[in-house]
Amino acid sequence: MFGKHRLSAIVYLLALAIFLLTITGEISNTSPRFRQGHEGNNVGTATEITAVRNERVLRETTEWETLLYKISSPNEGPTVMVIGGIHGNEPAGFKAVSEMTSWAIDRGTLLLLPRANEPAIAERTRSAPQDGLDLNRSFPGNANGVGTEVMASVIFSVIQEFEPDWVIDLHEASNFERKVPGSLGQTFIYPRGADSLDIVQELKTAVNRTIINEEHHFLILRGGTTGTLINAVNASGYEALIVETVTKMPMEERIDFHHQVVSSLLYLLEITVY
Ligand SMILES: [Zn+2]
Repeated sequence: MFGKHRLSAIVYLLALAIFLLTITGEISNTSPRFRQGHEGNNVGTATEITAVRNERVLRETTEWETLLYKISSPNEGPTVMVIGGIHGNEPAGFKAVSEMTSWAIDRGTLLLLPRANEPAIAERTRSAPQDGLDLNRSFPGNANGVGTEVMASVIFSVIQEFEPDWVIDLHEASNFERKVPGSLGQTFIYPRGADSLDIVQELKTAVNRTIINEEHHFLILRGGTTGTLINAVNASGYEALIVETVTKMPMEERIDFHHQVVSSLLYLLEITVY
């Protein structure tokens, strides 16, 4: 009888050890692993999610100096670019994109430009005080123009270099479009004539499903004035979308909305964020 009990205890301990090994294995196989500052020779196995992040300085040693981040998975997939801070007085956008620099993805490439308009962000003004031009009326830009026009051309050349499938431009409005038509708050602005409206509608459904208060649900508007980033991007054959939150809402909630929209679009493109 004693021997049988000892056998049961050994079987039990063995089972426990196998269980613990399985759990540990699961965790190490699904955790993101970042390597900063370089890419290459970092090949993921079938179950491993490996994202590589590197950075590029744009307009180095000028007042416009800013960082572009590239998060890439070794697994092929779409390229999505997210831009914040085109208007310096719309902070949820640039804070949201800054936080996305710690994201990992299982497929494709994520290009992040958190602070597109540093001089305007520094002063918390819509436009850079140096020339007062609206960056979101300056695309595709002019490399020989004044500061804002040069910044537009630098951003646009990044888009032409990476040819993103989607460019998401994060903004903020002062009020809800539902309450004050024309104020643009809680909307997705999709270029007139662009032809992936079905994806934008799916995105709206997915995001609104997570928002309890229906007054805060997103609407889709078709538009984009001349000189806006989305119009210039769309004219080059890539998809583009503006996301507008409302500055009346708490900052954390606005940042969450931006994150929700971007991660939901990535999910629709079959990219999972970790
Ligand atoms: Zn704006």
